[in-house]
Amino acid sequence: MTRELTRREFLTLAARLGLGSAAALLAGCQPEAAPAPPATAAAPSGQPSASLSAPTPTSSPSLTPQPTPTFGPDQISALVSPQEAAFLADHEIWSGEETRPAVMMTYDDFGSEEQIDKILDAFRRAGGKATFFYLGDHLLRSARSIERIVLGGHLLGCHGYFHEKPLTSLSASEVEAQFDQFFRDVAQIVPGYRVRFFRAPFGSINTEVRNLAARWGMQSVRWSFTSDGLTPKTRKIVLDNVKNGAIVLSHMYRYFDYMHADRITQGLIESGYQLVTVADGMKAADRFNGQTG
Ligand SMILES: [Zn+2]
Repeated sequence: MTRELTRREFLTLAARLGLGSAAALLAGCQPEAAPAPPATAAAPSGQPSASLSAPTPTSSPSLTPQPTPTFGPDQISALVSPQEAAFLADHEIWSGEETRPAVMMTYDDFGSEEQIDKILDAFRRAGGKATFFYLGDHLLRSARSIERIVLGGHLLGCHGYFHEKPLTSLSASEVEAQFDQFFRDVAQIVPGYRVRFFRAPFGSINTEVRNLAARWGMQSVRWSFTSDGLTPKTRKIVLDNVKNGAIVLSHMYRYFDYMHADRITQGLIESGYQLVTVADGMKAADRFNGQTG
């Protein structure tokens, strides 16, 4: 299945989903028409355009910088400078900014459309955003949910492609093959969306995997505590343990994580917390401020 949303289709989809500003922002990254010729003009300045070999959408000269570079898996190595990769590998995210009453709810693995809709509905009602670390081999079958996650302004992160083996038990080329397929599947569903955060399956990560993820422009994200999701006490666990900058690990398919998402998010709001994505709530010291992105 190959899908390239035109800008018009993208906006129509966004309208159907009732999503305004986030879609408008993202629409800036969508190709006006597909396919487009190789776009050397779209290369970030200072990047070697010769390495942008695959067709790259867009390219009318624009005065407005694009919030997210439109890119495909073939261009990622040109977009991520060695400096950025080194920074990302050295700045694993364990918690967020502690001076701000914000919490980062994160959901791992995958879920049914109904389960993810319950989570998204809860965050819409709470006026908050969540982070979803999706498992690659479930992306295409969850395409509609992925679109809703991205168009809703939530954050989509990488949870590897397969969950069977820890990435630390695989060779570098096997790990890279998983990232490559993950990026290709994301590009089919939400063209131009750049995944920047990564959570290793089982939390099993080492320097080598962190370095590989960083070369794909992804920063490893840990968590402060788990919500459990399998017990009716899930909401209480979250509310008892939350603090400024907490990263909460939940799972999209765990009953009390999705079924009580509304009660959990409302409880957090009532306790004075904002619900933000990892990208929004991360510590300033963990944010790469170089020339890329
Ligand atoms: Zn997992």
